[in-house]
Amino acid sequence: MGYYRVTLERKRNAVKKLSALVTDRHGTRKPCSPEAYEHRSVTVPFGGCTEPSNVKAGGHSCPLRFQCAGCGFYRPDPSYLPAIEDQINSLRADRETALAMGAADYVIANLTAEIASFRSVAANMRHELAALPEEERAEVEEAAAVLRQVRSGSTRPLLPLSVLRKQAP
Ligand code: SF4
Repeated sequence: MGYYRVTLERKRNAVKKLSALVTDRHGTRKPCSPEAYEHRSVTVPFGGCTEPSNVKAGGHSCPLRFQCAGCGFYRPDPSYLPAIEDQINSLRADRETALAMGAADYVIANLTAEIASFRSVAANMRHELAALPEEERAEVEEAAAVLRQVRSGSTRPLLPLSVLRKQAP
């Protein structure tokens, strides 16, 4: 129980720290209260999402196929930086594959634009972090690590659902 209480307190402190550093996709600060961070947005792979229907659906109803860096409802913070960098690498690999497959120009253009958008999000975030005093930057990085740990622990695998056909008698 002691460990549980400490964990909750660390999470609360981490949310407080990171909620002040939330931005939109352009890197403009959009700070929110810790309550809004936890309850008026939903965690999606590369940041927070404030799109109401997706929040209501627990993050499973994105109308834009999770192209968050191009979405007005996207609210990333520095705790998502590693996930954003992974996504940039993954999109670059997809673009290479698409080129090798002779994919249509619009497919390549879409991937190129998405890579550029996520790169811009990551660059703005790194710039903001670099501008913080060293002690505060260390606190933010620690808080970000706590939230990543919380998220990884809260990810439960979904069970596959199969449609069972009723056998004719
Ligand atoms: S693309 Fe927009 S609506 Fe979809 S998950 Fe990302 S932020 Fe939410």
